Amino acid sequence: MTDVYDLIVLGAGSGGIAGAVRAARHGARVAVLEPGAIGGTCVNAGCIPKKAMWLAAELAQAQHLARDYGFGIETGVLDWQHFLAARRRYIGNIHRSYAERFDGLGIERVAERGRFADDGTILAGDRTLRAAHVLIATGGRPKRLHCAGQQHGMVSDDLFGLEQAPRRVAIAGSGYIAVEFAGVLHALGSQVEIYVRGTRLFGVLDHELSDSLDAALRQDGIVVRYESEIVNAEPSAHGYRLDCGDGCSEDGYDALLWAVGRVPNTGDLNLAAVGVGVDGDGHVQVDDRQDTTRDGVYAVGDVTAAPALTPVAVAAARRLMDRIFGGDPDSKLDFEWIPTVVFSHPPIGTIGLTEADARTRFGEAVRCYRSRFRPMRTALPDRVTRSFMKLVCVGEDERIVGLHIHGDSADEMLQGFAVAVRMGATKRDFDDTLAIHPTSAEELVLMS
Ligand code: FAD
Repeated sequence: MTDVYDLIVLGAGSGGIAGAVRAARHGARVAVLEPGAIGGTCVNAGCIPKKAMWLAAELAQAQHLARDYGFGIETGVLDWQHFLAARRRYIGNIHRSYAERFDGLGIERVAERGRFADDGTILAGDRTLRAAHVLIATGGRPKRLHCAGQQHGMVSDDLFGLEQAPRRVAIAGSGYIAVEFAGVLHALGSQVEIYVRGTRLFGVLDHELSDSLDAALRQDGIVVRYESEIVNAEPSAHGYRLDCGDGCSEDGYDALLWAVGRVPNTGDLNLAAVGVGVDGDGHVQVDDRQDTTRDGVYAVGDVTAAPALTPVAVAAARRLMDRIFGGDPDSKLDFEWIPTVVFSHPPIGTIGLTEADARTRFGEAVRCYRSRFRPMRTALPDRVTRSFMKLVCVGEDERIVGLHIHGDSADEMLQGFAVAVRMGATKRDFDDTLAIHPTSAEELVLMS
């Protein structure tokens, strides 16, 4: 027997949940297939457990700062079992709240991996499901470096099983996960070395921002090895040994982390048989309305080539469901202004164009403003930590097309500024806004 729905969602991660809930609120009959834990990567092996570790790392560092302020405290190390219990409890509450929301809206949960049958129905275990609309939201999974010995060491999913900080860890990669976990593990007691294949961290960031990040990592004592392509990893008498393409070898790591990107979960969906196209990396091809190459089949989130961020998956899914079930034919996500934070120590917040991208698009019409300063929080006890901020402006009215922050509270600061930038704020608007003193954020409206 075939069960019939208005919408079938493959995957209960950020995009799948958002789409299912929005569709059900519009009155659709929805089934969601999910073989793993509800919440997907973000809740179980991404944003949430990562942010929990970042918060613990911030507190570890704050203890040292408190001593520098004059508190006569002994700095303590993290009780991992205590911390992990708190994190499990927190994530358990999220699971329960999603399950309640599904039940309240009558969304059916099917604890199975789904795939397309050749006729376009969905196979889930021994059941066959049919719907006029199918949303593919199956996300992605971490990949390992393509080198000899790649089976050794961890990927990001494994980080959440750690029960102590490794003594010495090598991280291969230069993006979010490499940088964020370098900072977290360092703050929690590990000696950290990052292997970067190219010449800079975070190639997509404004270069002055990635220079600022590089300086902060080095100042903390994290080793960053540029132009170091790992070609072999193997266990040794001292832990793990890494060999690089330039002939260099380094031995004695207790742990390795491959933080070299993710692959979309499309391989087992039988997409070719039903005419859903994928690109060379396996991402489902979608247009700007999330439509795939087959009518009635859509995709959102990390399974597409969109920026791999939870709010992107959520917003794309909600707008799609407003279009399909909510009577709003023009509803679609505008991908132009995507604010993003790197949870380094201190964090980075960025929206819009880098200076290089702006110069490519607007040439001589670009003007940049910068501020480098010692934030009061760390300057007070005479630490040399620096913050960096940059505005990229265009045209005679100096419209702000890029805003970049590296420093304390950049993560919380960015959201409000993102509203202003998206609304078309100019440098004059920033100049006309009264500063809030004494803060770090005021530097953004005081640049000259
Ligand atoms: P996912 O959340 O990955 O969900 C996909 C779901 O589909 C999974 O539950 C999977 O089990 C299921 N599935 C797979 N195949 C099938 C199938 N055949 N049938 C049914 N179900 C299937 N983003 C941020 O915005 N901020 C952050 O701070 C942040 N930190 C991150 C840290 C890490 C370590 C990682 C890995 C990611 C982080 N991200 C962050 C990215 C964010 O987690 C993803 O962009 C987001 O989860 C994508 O949502 P999604 O719905 O596309 O996929």
